[in-house]
Amino acid sequence: MKKDDCIFCKLANGQIPTNTIYEDDDFRVFLDAAPATRGHCLIVPKEHFDDLEDLDDKVAAKVLPLAKKIMKLLKEKLGWEGFNVVQNNKELAGQTVFHFHMHLIPRYSGDGQNILWKPGKPAEGELQSILDEINS
Ligand code: AMP
Ligand code: ZN
Repeated sequence: MKKDDCIFCKLANGQIPTNTIYEDDDFRVFLDAAPATRGHCLIVPKEHFDDLEDLDDKVAAKVLPLAKKIMKLLKEKLGWEGFNVVQNNKELAGQTVFHFHMHLIPRYSGDGQNILWKPGKPAEGELQSILDEINS
């Protein structure tokens, strides 16, 4: 299904032009318009899914093999030295376009990016308590 008011439905299906580096029946991969680094691109399914929680399992199973393929292509063509795969879900986690997409971000020495988190310091017993909650 496509969603009428969704920009990524239009971009993925070619109704709005993109800087496409790969396309097949299920996906379009195009350059991010506000790239973190040289070659930052997005894997976008042609069907509409709000986010990973909503993503069809058959489509989901194709995302990581495609990420690997594009990662290899970008290594060959752009010669990255590191690579981040980022996928945001819901506004709280930084999602700004509510059509599932995966960021592929090539990394280069001195690129000025820092796609990391601040490590936490769990209190005594906290990890066990989380584990108990998840496994209950
Ligand atoms: P997120 O914040 O994870 O939802 O990522 C949305 C991404 O889409 C951002 O990195 C934007 O720069 C990118 N973006 C938004 N509109 C366009 C567009 N028309 N063409 C290419 N990239 C876009
Ligand atoms: Zn959409």
